[in-house]
Amino acid sequence: MAKTNPKYIFVVGGVMSGVGKGITTSSLGNILQARGFSVTAFKIDPYINVDAGTMNPTEHGETFVLFDGHETDQDMGNYERFMDITLDRDNYMTTGLVYKTVIEKERNLEYKGRCVQVVPDIPREVISRIKRSVAKHQADIAIIEIGGTVGEYENILFLEAIRMLKIENPADVITVMVSYVPTPSKVGEMKTKPTQHAVRTLNGTGIQPDFIVARADKPLDDKRKEKIGIFCNVRTEDVISAPDVETIYDVPLNFERDHLSDLVLAKLGLKAKRQSDGKWAKQVKKLKSAKREVRVAVVGKYFKTGDYVLTDAYISVIEALKHAACAEGAKLKLDWLDSAEFEEDPKTVSELKQYDGVLIPGGFGSRGIEGKIKVIEHCRKNKIPYFGLCYGMQLMVIEFARNVAGLKGAHTAEVNPKAPYVVVDIMPEQKEKLAKKDYGATMRLGQYEAVIKKGTQAAGAYKSKSVLERHRHRYEINPEYVEKIEKKGLVFSGTSPDGRLMEIAELPKSEHPFFLATQFHPEFQSSLLHPHPLFVAFLRACKK
Ligand code: GLN
Repeated sequence: MAKTNPKYIFVVGGVMSGVGKGITTSSLGNILQARGFSVTAFKIDPYINVDAGTMNPTEHGETFVLFDGHETDQDMGNYERFMDITLDRDNYMTTGLVYKTVIEKERNLEYKGRCVQVVPDIPREVISRIKRSVAKHQADIAIIEIGGTVGEYENILFLEAIRMLKIENPADVITVMVSYVPTPSKVGEMKTKPTQHAVRTLNGTGIQPDFIVARADKPLDDKRKEKIGIFCNVRTEDVISAPDVETIYDVPLNFERDHLSDLVLAKLGLKAKRQSDGKWAKQVKKLKSAKREVRVAVVGKYFKTGDYVLTDAYISVIEALKHAACAEGAKLKLDWLDSAEFEEDPKTVSELKQYDGVLIPGGFGSRGIEGKIKVIEHCRKNKIPYFGLCYGMQLMVIEFARNVAGLKGAHTAEVNPKAPYVVVDIMPEQKEKLAKKDYGATMRLGQYEAVIKKGTQAAGAYKSKSVLERHRHRYEINPEYVEKIEKKGLVFSGTSPDGRLMEIAELPKSEHPFFLATQFHPEFQSSLLHPHPLFVAFLRACKK
């Protein structure tokens, strides 16, 4: 059967950022998939950084690593989690990357000597990337989220791409604007004016939104829908109510209350291939109805920005914990603990008593390190379930080396390359890169195989001899110390196939209910419908 043209749905933001464009994009993908279409998703970020790998997590949030090693924005993680799809480097672009490509092509004479211009050449490059990727994924529908909000001049060239793609394919391109509808406390009424202005601004770039997703603290009443419809030039039914929700996983279900998939498909001239199978709704119900509380502490350092606490730097970890809690029928209660506080006052580790489990996620540099090591020691000695990710594994090995294997002063070369026992060392291939200050996209990145040792906790969780997991690190467990450490009881239950790189470390179940850590980032491969087995094993241990 001949495939119809691929369809393109652009998602843009109005009024202000941070109100849920990423979740809207993900949820839209989720409901269209449920109607039988193959969907792919893109994120376009308007900054000059070529990728998200060099950005400070406190400011920018998590760097999400794709299987192919591309370092991207956290929204890519939401797409993968909501749609259970695997995206690749072509699904993510920044202004920096697009310009870099165009400039390289110009240097290679690919424009055959003509004058290369911002318009149309930059939007054309954006369009050709999207088309190439849609063809590769054989997608029926592509959803493309444009970072920032309309009216910022940073993203104008991407809005130009929408306009140009629509000239070519008028029936195949629609635009969704996610806008914020505030209810100022002194006014006591939802105000639609900011949304009206945002739509005007979008109109100024030659684009009329087909749908308006109205983010607000409460559902929109009919009166507000009508008003937005009339002033923003859309039908009332195309104004979609998107109130605050108990869990982000409710959003696809809420969209369907306003019949969004039917409306979008009709506008794109597509016929639904099936009704939703209800799996998602069932899982969300399970998530929300769990009663048995499990308290987990995440000990990190990328929380504070000014007077505010943001947890964006650890979003995939948080979501993976939620997925696992749902699988185990547990209600997750998460707390954020700043590792620096344990460093200032080591006695505070006794506060960890109140938790059923502790997780230390990835990190870089020396701040808060000794605090984390104290926390790990406390978990080991008091048999509190501990799950370490990346730096969380390196620090677990350092703790064990110092306090059990008798390697006093053991450390990582990242913090002290002159330590008496460098049990975590720079990977040989990384040395040169650091010497040349070649920092961008040069870590050990993306998916690599790990082989799992029989009879271990890891083997019990994975039920598989070999797994593929995503990485992002420069340092590794120093192979010189592996034997010494293993002799004292820590088991390296996962290694690279050649046995050189340690991928998982754990204490046997007879010693500790759960003391396990991974060099890779399992959090990047967990979704509500497919929770990650190691997170599930951790949650199960916490529940006990
Ligand atoms: N800083 C450590 C390394 O580079 C760990 C990285 C991480 O936790 N992602 O190896």
